[in-house]
Amino acid sequence: MNLNTVVEVRRPASADEIAQWRSGYAWLAGGTWLFSEPQLATDTLIDLDQLQWPALRTSAAGLDIAATCRIAELYRFVGPADWSAAPLIRECCNAFLASFKVWNAATVGGNICMSLPAGPMISLTVALEATYTLWPRGAAPREMPGIAFVTGNHANVLQPGELLRSIHLPVAALSKRAAFRHASLTKLGRSAALIIGTQTPEFGDLLITITAATPRPVQLRFAQPPSAAELRHAIDAHIPADGYFDDVHGSAAYKRHLTYHFAEQIRAELA
Ligand SMILES: Cc1cc2nc3c(=O)[nH]c(=O)nc-3n(C[C@H](O)[C@H](O)[C@H](O)COP(=O)(O)OP(=O)(O)OC[C@H]3O[C@@H](n4cnc5c(N)ncnc54)[C@H](O)[C@@H]3O)c2cc1C
Repeated sequence: MNLNTVVEVRRPASADEIAQWRSGYAWLAGGTWLFSEPQLATDTLIDLDQLQWPALRTSAAGLDIAATCRIAELYRFVGPADWSAAPLIRECCNAFLASFKVWNAATVGGNICMSLPAGPMISLTVALEATYTLWPRGAAPREMPGIAFVTGNHANVLQPGELLRSIHLPVAALSKRAAFRHASLTKLGRSAALIIGTQTPEFGDLLITITAATPRPVQLRFAQPPSAAELRHAIDAHIPADGYFDDVHGSAAYKRHLTYHFAEQIRAELA
């Protein structure tokens, strides 16, 4: 849609060109959300496209994803054969309710910064124990664990003008065994629950990441494989009955049921 409050679009070649931030500014990534509804508080868009950050970089340490990497680019990524958790990338891209336009324009960083419960790039990167690099305005870059970034439905830790620069997925997480479960009330609908389990084969640990069913990601870490009862107890200890996200994509009770069901399937699969 036309954004009739926007009077300027800036296209910096470097993020440092935007030294001063004021209300009315908004970073523009793929624009799939920004252009989907009126943005009455925004008068200036600052397009990230000209920053020309390389979308994907592999190294011995893992995978670095630029915030501006498109979902379609990430989907095409093929990792080294021993990155046994890499199929999660495609699974999570496919969990996106995405038209052709959204699929090809939306960015990984835009999805994370939207911070919706059903943000599949949040699910992916949190499950793979990502570190996010943030660029505040007028201060040194900072790094933080992906799990701490989203604080609620459409809420996160970003300060005004702060930019999500990149996401690092460590090789240790990419090399884990992984199991994925996802449900949506409608085909290609927004996720009601997206749950991922990972396990280091030699340790037999278990990391369960619960997303979409809850307003923000919830992670359960077990040093040894839990029993079914221990897993259910841990879910209840971390998510109270009224802690599930109730919206048109599924009631809280439905999402709670899916969480128990999928987490138990994942536990059994990775046992
Ligand atoms: C039909 C349709 C279906 C959708 N389905 C889903 C879905 O299933 N799940 C879901 O989560 N979302 C969904 N969305 C919402 C949205 O399109 C996605 O979240 C998308 O990934 C946003 O990415 P983008 O690059 O287009 O972000 P933009 O629209 O460009 O930006 C989104 C927000 O993030 C900020 N931002 C973007 N990049 C950065 C950055 N690097 N640093 C700091 N701030 C930044 C922008 O200022 C803006 O506030 C849907 C939207 C539509 C129209």
